[in-house]
Amino acid sequence: MEVTPTPSRTATPTRTETRPDNTAASIEVDYTYVTNEYVLEDAVRALKDASHIFLDCEGHNLGAVGGSLSLVNLAAADGPVYVVDVLAPAFNCDEGREVLDVMFDVLKDAAVKKVMFDGRMDASEFMHGYGVEMSGVLDLQLADIVSRGLRGERQKQQIGRLVPFIHRKDVNGHWADYDGVHRLNGLIKAMGEHKLPHVRRTEAYHERWHARPLGEEMIAAAARDVHYVRTMWKHFVAQDWVREEELEAQSGRYAGLVRAMRPFSHDTFRCNGLLPQGILEDLAGERWTCTLCERELARGYFLRIALFNEGRRFCKTCRAVRMRKMRQEQRACGKEQDIGQVRDRDACGILSADEWQVPVRGRGEAASERSEGAYSERETQTGVNYL
Ligand SMILES: [Zn+2]
Repeated sequence: MEVTPTPSRTATPTRTETRPDNTAASIEVDYTYVTNEYVLEDAVRALKDASHIFLDCEGHNLGAVGGSLSLVNLAAADGPVYVVDVLAPAFNCDEGREVLDVMFDVLKDAAVKKVMFDGRMDASEFMHGYGVEMSGVLDLQLADIVSRGLRGERQKQQIGRLVPFIHRKDVNGHWADYDGVHRLNGLIKAMGEHKLPHVRRTEAYHERWHARPLGEEMIAAAARDVHYVRTMWKHFVAQDWVREEELEAQSGRYAGLVRAMRPFSHDTFRCNGLLPQGILEDLAGERWTCTLCERELARGYFLRIALFNEGRRFCKTCRAVRMRKMRQEQRACGKEQDIGQVRDRDACGILSADEWQVPVRGRGEAASERSEGAYSERETQTGVNYL
């Protein structure tokens, strides 16, 4: 078989003038575009003995129902980012899966830690698209939330992050309802918050991830995301914000959310901008099933009022998402009443659908979620909307 050498694009990472939020005009990252088994073997050789590697995927609706994978981007602590094009002819053929196994073995190897940023949908894609269950994942999105407390953040700031995802009026005076409800950061937002150099992606590539040939700027953008994960990891380690064993357990629970099945990207209660309950710790004791996310969780993740309604119990995160949906729907139909009047009845599940116009897990939710419209980072690639 004729081997086409894959050029290694090398350019020294450069940092241009620092802007107020540390966005840069450009950041160039060394990367190797991997399109055949020989270069893949070289890449795996460079990665498999590392204690930590950095991983991020690109695709359309990655991990969700109807989604698929385009690029697997990997890097060691130093050296180039390997951009593995799983749609290249060498990999996207009958023998392709076997060829890719050399890479999948690294993903399955618990001894090689995979540092990711929100690896849920990536894990879902590997699991449901390729039958590969990842092991040894360290998810920086969770470390970012944990770091907030280590940075001295108090409940006031934790609550403040929820606005305007949750309407200010629905939060003020009801802090206890949102205790332990955390707003997630997307990768770029986290880079900005930690004052790490980055450039903003100005466009969503949507289904273009599946067009070939891929534009140079798209490959570079994919490589840059892994570079950001690597940069953030080094920063977190330097700040002593990482407890690896704990983070691995948390990350295992996080990726475990999608183990059973691919989620629908429009499933408001599985794909939203809040951290699901029971991820940072897993409380002991009696367990209840949340009616909305359908997860079985310790009762400590529900409001106390849920005790009185066995049939419809909402975990704290789902209840917060529901408050948001109520506000949106009521505004949409010009009937914005004081939600406070119905809050407690809703929390224990006795509010009728008519009272707030949205059926539980109904089609209307999907439509209004999509109508939010604006591009948010990773939204179209992973189905998770951090807006
Ligand atoms: Zn729930």
